[in-house]
Amino acid sequence: MRSTQLDGGTMAGTMKRQKRGIPEGLWQRCPGCQETIYWKTALENMSCCPECNFHFYVSAVDRIAQVLDGGTFEEWDHDLSPTDPLNFKDRKKYSERLIAEQKRTGLKDAAITGCGMIRARRVAFGLTDSAFIMGSMGSVVGERLTRLVERAIEQQLPLIIISGSGGGARMHEGILSLMQMAKVSAALARYDEAGGLFISVLTNPTMGGVAASFASLGDVIFAEPRALIGFAGPRTIKATIRIELPKGFQTSEFLLEHGYIDRIVTRDKLKSEIARTIDYCGK
Ligand SMILES: [Zn+2]
Repeated sequence: MRSTQLDGGTMAGTMKRQKRGIPEGLWQRCPGCQETIYWKTALENMSCCPECNFHFYVSAVDRIAQVLDGGTFEEWDHDLSPTDPLNFKDRKKYSERLIAEQKRTGLKDAAITGCGMIRARRVAFGLTDSAFIMGSMGSVVGERLTRLVERAIEQQLPLIIISGSGGGARMHEGILSLMQMAKVSAALARYDEAGGLFISVLTNPTMGGVAASFASLGDVIFAEPRALIGFAGPRTIKATIRIELPKGFQTSEFLLEHGYIDRIVTRDKLKSEIARTIDYCGK
Protein backbone atom coordinates (compact mmCIF):
# COMPACT_ATOMS: atom_id res chain seq x y z
CA MET A 1 0.00 0.00 0.00
CA ARG A 2 1.30 3.38 -0.86
CA SER A 3 0.25 6.67 0.51
CA THR A 4 1.12 10.23 -0.20
CA GLN A 5 1.37 13.34 1.87
CA LEU A 6 -0.72 15.70 -0.14
CA ASP A 7 -1.05 19.41 -0.45
CA GLY A 8 -4.65 19.46 0.72
CA GLY A 9 -6.89 22.46 0.75
CA THR A 10 -6.82 22.74 -3.03
CA MET A 11 -10.35 23.37 -4.20
CA ALA A 12 -11.70 21.39 -7.07
CA GLY A 13 -12.29 22.86 -10.49
CA THR A 14 -11.87 26.58 -10.84
CA MET A 15 -12.26 27.35 -7.17
CA LYS A 16 -9.41 29.10 -5.48
CA ARG A 17 -7.29 27.68 -2.73
CA GLN A 18 -9.17 27.81 0.54
CA LYS A 19 -7.34 28.95 3.61
CA ARG A 20 -7.32 26.27 6.25
CA GLY A 21 -8.65 27.15 9.65
CA ILE A 22 -11.39 29.55 10.53
CA PRO A 23 -11.24 32.59 8.28
CA GLU A 24 -10.44 35.75 10.15
CA GLY A 25 -12.10 39.10 9.88
CA LEU A 26 -15.62 40.35 9.48
CA TRP A 27 -15.77 39.88 5.73
CA GLN A 28 -14.69 36.89 3.78
CA ARG A 29 -14.33 36.18 0.09
CA CYS A 30 -16.30 33.04 -0.82
CA PRO A 31 -14.27 30.64 -3.01
CA GLY A 32 -17.55 29.23 -4.39
CA CYS A 33 -19.18 32.38 -5.79
CA GLN A 34 -16.41 34.99 -5.33
CA GLU A 35 -18.85 37.21 -3.39
CA THR A 36 -17.64 39.03 -0.31
CA ILE A 37 -19.79 37.73 2.50
CA TYR A 38 -20.37 38.89 6.06
CA TRP A 39 -18.67 36.15 8.04
CA LYS A 40 -21.12 36.30 10.95
CA THR A 41 -23.98 35.45 8.58
CA ALA A 42 -22.03 32.43 7.32
CA LEU A 43 -21.33 31.33 10.90
CA GLU A 44 -25.03 31.48 11.71
CA ASN A 45 -25.55 29.35 8.61
CA MET A 46 -23.27 26.49 9.86
CA SER A 47 -20.26 28.07 8.13
CA CYS A 48 -21.93 27.93 4.72
CA CYS A 49 -22.02 30.80 2.23
CA PRO A 50 -25.39 32.62 2.43
CA GLU A 51 -25.17 33.30 -1.33
CA CYS A 52 -24.15 29.97 -2.87
CA ASN A 53 -24.10 27.54 0.10
CA PHE A 54 -20.37 26.91 -0.30
CA HIS A 55 -19.32 24.77 2.67
CA PHE A 56 -16.43 26.35 4.53
CA TYR A 57 -14.13 24.45 6.87
CA VAL A 58 -15.52 23.66 10.32
CA SER A 59 -13.40 22.43 13.21
CA ALA A 60 -14.02 19.04 14.80
CA VAL A 61 -15.35 20.74 17.93
CA ASP A 62 -17.87 22.83 15.96
CA ARG A 63 -18.81 19.77 13.96
CA ILE A 64 -19.67 17.89 17.15
CA ALA A 65 -22.00 20.75 18.11
CA GLN A 66 -23.60 20.70 14.64
CA VAL A 67 -24.23 16.96 14.44
CA LEU A 68 -24.75 15.64 17.97
CA ASP A 69 -27.53 16.53 20.38
CA GLY A 70 -26.34 19.27 22.73
CA GLY A 71 -24.19 18.13 25.65
CA THR A 72 -24.28 14.41 24.77
CA PHE A 73 -20.73 13.92 23.49
CA GLU A 74 -18.45 11.85 25.72
CA GLU A 75 -14.90 11.72 24.45
CA TRP A 76 -13.04 8.39 24.44
CA ASP A 77 -9.26 7.92 24.68
CA HIS A 78 -8.55 11.58 25.27
CA ASP A 79 -5.28 10.62 26.97
CA LEU A 80 -3.74 9.01 23.87
CA SER A 81 -1.00 11.42 22.81
CA PRO A 82 1.27 11.31 19.77
CA THR A 83 4.99 10.65 20.20
CA ASP A 84 7.96 11.04 17.88
CA PRO A 85 9.31 7.49 17.59
CA LEU A 86 11.56 8.24 14.59
CA ASN A 87 12.98 11.54 15.85
CA PHE A 88 11.74 12.93 12.58
CA LYS A 89 12.77 16.34 11.39
CA ASP A 90 11.88 18.25 8.25
CA ARG A 91 11.77 22.04 8.48
CA LYS A 92 11.27 21.54 12.18
CA LYS A 93 11.33 18.64 14.58
CA TYR A 94 8.15 16.57 14.57
CA SER A 95 8.07 16.71 18.38
CA GLU A 96 8.02 20.53 18.18
CA ARG A 97 5.50 20.50 15.36
CA LEU A 98 3.15 18.40 17.47
CA ILE A 99 3.29 20.85 20.36
CA ALA A 100 2.74 23.81 18.02
CA GLU A 101 -0.24 22.09 16.35
CA GLN A 102 -1.75 21.15 19.69
CA LYS A 103 -1.52 24.75 20.87
CA ARG A 104 -2.91 26.16 17.63
CA THR A 105 -5.88 23.78 17.29
CA GLY A 106 -6.62 22.80 20.89
CA LEU A 107 -6.58 19.15 19.74
CA LYS A 108 -4.18 16.41 20.86
CA ASP A 109 -4.11 14.91 17.39
CA ALA A 110 -6.12 14.99 14.16
CA ALA A 111 -8.95 12.69 15.32
CA ILE A 112 -11.54 12.95 18.09
CA THR A 113 -13.66 9.95 19.00
CA GLY A 114 -16.38 9.16 21.48
CA CYS A 115 -20.08 8.55 21.75
CA GLY A 116 -23.11 10.78 21.72
CA MET A 117 -26.69 11.09 20.60
CA ILE A 118 -28.06 12.05 17.19
CA ARG A 119 -31.75 12.93 17.54
CA ALA A 120 -31.83 10.69 20.62
CA ARG A 121 -30.10 7.73 18.89
CA ARG A 122 -26.88 6.69 20.59
CA VAL A 123 -23.93 6.43 18.19
CA ALA A 124 -20.18 5.88 18.18
CA PHE A 125 -18.82 9.06 16.64
CA GLY A 126 -15.43 9.99 15.21
CA LEU A 127 -14.02 12.90 13.23
CA THR A 128 -10.77 13.94 11.65
CA ASP A 129 -9.86 17.61 11.53
CA SER A 130 -7.88 18.88 8.54
CA ALA A 131 -6.44 21.72 10.62
CA PHE A 132 -4.13 19.36 12.55
CA ILE A 133 -1.19 18.46 10.25
CA MET A 134 -3.68 18.29 7.38
CA GLY A 135 -5.78 15.70 9.18
CA SER A 136 -3.13 13.13 8.38
CA MET A 137 -3.37 9.66 9.83
CA GLY A 138 -0.70 9.13 12.45
CA SER A 139 -0.59 6.38 15.07
CA VAL A 140 -2.95 8.20 17.42
CA VAL A 141 -5.54 8.82 14.70
CA GLY A 142 -5.40 5.13 13.74
CA GLU A 143 -5.51 3.91 17.32
CA ARG A 144 -8.39 6.18 18.33
CA LEU A 145 -10.45 5.17 15.31
CA THR A 146 -9.69 1.47 15.83
CA ARG A 147 -10.78 1.65 19.47
CA LEU A 148 -13.88 3.56 18.38
CA VAL A 149 -14.81 0.77 15.97
CA GLU A 150 -14.09 -1.91 18.57
CA ARG A 151 -16.31 -0.18 21.13
CA ALA A 152 -19.01 0.21 18.52
CA ILE A 153 -18.88 -3.59 18.12
CA GLU A 154 -19.00 -4.23 21.88
CA GLN A 155 -21.81 -1.78 22.50
CA GLN A 156 -23.64 -2.55 19.24
CA LEU A 157 -23.73 1.08 18.19
CA PRO A 158 -24.14 2.61 14.74
CA LEU A 159 -20.80 4.12 13.73
CA ILE A 160 -20.45 7.60 12.22
CA ILE A 161 -17.08 8.94 11.07
CA ILE A 162 -16.76 12.39 9.50
CA SER A 163 -13.53 12.76 7.54
CA GLY A 164 -11.69 15.96 6.77
CA SER A 165 -8.15 15.08 5.78
CA GLY A 166 -5.93 16.80 3.26
CA GLY A 167 -3.09 14.46 4.10
CA GLY A 168 -2.91 10.72 3.87
CA ALA A 169 -0.46 8.85 6.02
CA ARG A 170 1.63 11.07 8.28
CA MET A 171 5.12 10.89 6.84
CA HIS A 172 6.64 12.03 10.13
CA GLU A 173 5.75 8.61 11.57
CA GLY A 174 6.83 6.56 8.54
CA ILE A 175 5.72 2.92 8.51
CA LEU A 176 3.92 3.32 11.86
CA SER A 177 1.58 5.69 10.10
CA LEU A 178 1.06 3.45 7.05
CA MET A 179 0.05 0.53 9.29
CA GLN A 180 -2.94 2.47 10.57
CA MET A 181 -4.80 2.10 7.28
CA ALA A 182 -4.75 -1.69 7.55
CA LYS A 183 -5.49 -1.63 11.28
CA VAL A 184 -8.62 0.53 11.02
CA SER A 185 -9.79 -1.34 7.92
CA ALA A 186 -9.45 -4.70 9.70
CA ALA A 187 -11.46 -3.38 12.66
CA LEU A 188 -14.14 -2.21 10.23
CA ALA A 189 -14.26 -5.68 8.66
CA ARG A 190 -14.95 -7.12 12.14
CA TYR A 191 -17.60 -4.46 12.68
CA ASP A 192 -19.21 -5.44 9.39
CA GLU A 193 -19.18 -9.14 10.37
CA ALA A 194 -20.89 -8.16 13.61
CA GLY A 195 -23.67 -6.58 11.55
CA GLY A 196 -22.94 -2.94 12.34
CA LEU A 197 -23.97 0.09 10.31
CA PHE A 198 -21.11 2.43 9.36
CA ILE A 199 -22.03 5.81 7.88
CA SER A 200 -18.97 7.57 6.46
CA VAL A 201 -19.26 11.31 5.83
CA LEU A 202 -16.68 12.90 3.51
CA THR A 203 -15.94 16.59 3.77
CA ASN A 204 -13.55 18.88 1.97
CA PRO A 205 -10.85 17.58 1.66
CA THR A 206 -10.78 13.78 2.04
CA MET A 207 -7.59 12.54 0.42
CA GLY A 208 -4.71 10.09 0.59
CA GLY A 209 -4.62 7.22 3.05
CA VAL A 210 -7.80 8.39 4.78
CA ALA A 211 -9.74 8.17 1.50
CA ALA A 212 -7.95 4.90 0.70
CA SER A 213 -9.01 3.26 3.96
CA PHE A 214 -11.84 3.91 6.42
CA ALA A 215 -13.46 6.88 4.67
CA SER A 216 -14.32 4.71 1.64
CA LEU A 217 -15.49 1.71 3.65
CA GLY A 218 -18.86 3.02 4.81
CA ASP A 219 -21.99 0.94 4.31
CA VAL A 220 -23.42 4.30 3.36
CA ILE A 221 -21.18 7.13 2.16
CA PHE A 222 -22.35 10.74 2.32
CA ALA A 223 -20.37 13.72 1.10
CA GLU A 224 -20.72 17.44 1.57
CA PRO A 225 -21.28 19.37 -1.69
CA ARG A 226 -18.24 20.37 -3.75
CA ALA A 227 -15.78 18.53 -1.48
CA LEU A 228 -12.44 17.43 -2.89
CA ILE A 229 -12.28 13.65 -2.53
CA GLY A 230 -9.59 11.43 -4.00
CA PHE A 231 -6.24 9.78 -3.42
CA ALA A 232 -3.50 11.83 -5.04
CA GLY A 233 -4.34 15.47 -5.80
CA PRO A 234 -5.33 16.58 -9.31
CA ARG A 235 -2.02 18.34 -9.91
CA THR A 236 -0.05 15.21 -9.01
CA ILE A 237 -2.18 13.03 -11.28
CA LYS A 238 -1.97 15.48 -14.15
CA ALA A 239 1.80 15.67 -13.81
CA THR A 240 2.02 11.84 -13.76
CA ILE A 241 -0.32 10.76 -16.55
CA ARG A 242 -0.09 13.95 -18.63
CA ILE A 243 -3.67 14.04 -19.87
CA GLU A 244 -6.43 16.56 -19.28
CA LEU A 245 -8.58 15.51 -16.35
CA PRO A 246 -12.38 15.45 -16.77
CA LYS A 247 -14.36 18.47 -15.60
CA GLY A 248 -15.28 18.35 -11.94
CA PHE A 249 -12.80 15.51 -11.34
CA GLN A 250 -12.57 14.45 -7.66
CA THR A 251 -15.57 16.50 -6.54
CA SER A 252 -18.50 15.04 -4.59
CA GLU A 253 -20.76 15.65 -7.60
CA PHE A 254 -18.44 13.77 -9.99
CA LEU A 255 -18.11 10.88 -7.56
CA LEU A 256 -21.86 10.65 -7.01
CA GLU A 257 -22.37 10.44 -10.77
CA HIS A 258 -19.80 7.62 -10.94
CA GLY A 259 -21.24 5.65 -8.04
CA TYR A 260 -18.43 6.17 -5.54
CA ILE A 261 -20.61 7.91 -2.97
CA ASP A 262 -24.28 7.38 -2.14
CA ARG A 263 -25.59 10.85 -1.51
CA ILE A 264 -24.58 14.49 -1.29
CA VAL A 265 -25.88 15.93 1.93
CA THR A 266 -25.75 19.62 2.77
CA ARG A 267 -24.58 20.50 6.25
CA ASP A 268 -27.97 21.67 7.49
CA LYS A 269 -29.50 18.27 6.60
CA LEU A 270 -26.69 16.03 7.82
CA LYS A 271 -28.02 15.36 11.30
CA SER A 272 -31.50 14.42 10.04
CA GLU A 273 -30.09 12.31 7.19
CA ILE A 274 -27.92 10.30 9.58
CA ALA A 275 -30.84 9.74 11.96
CA ARG A 276 -33.09 8.72 9.07
CA THR A 277 -30.49 6.26 7.72
CA ILE A 278 -30.03 4.65 11.14
CA ASP A 279 -33.80 4.14 11.36
CA TYR A 280 -34.05 2.93 7.78
CA CYS A 281 -31.37 0.30 8.43
CA GLY A 282 -33.10 -0.71 11.65
CA LYS A 283 -30.05 -0.05 13.84
ZN1 LIG B 1 -20.58 31.73 -2.02
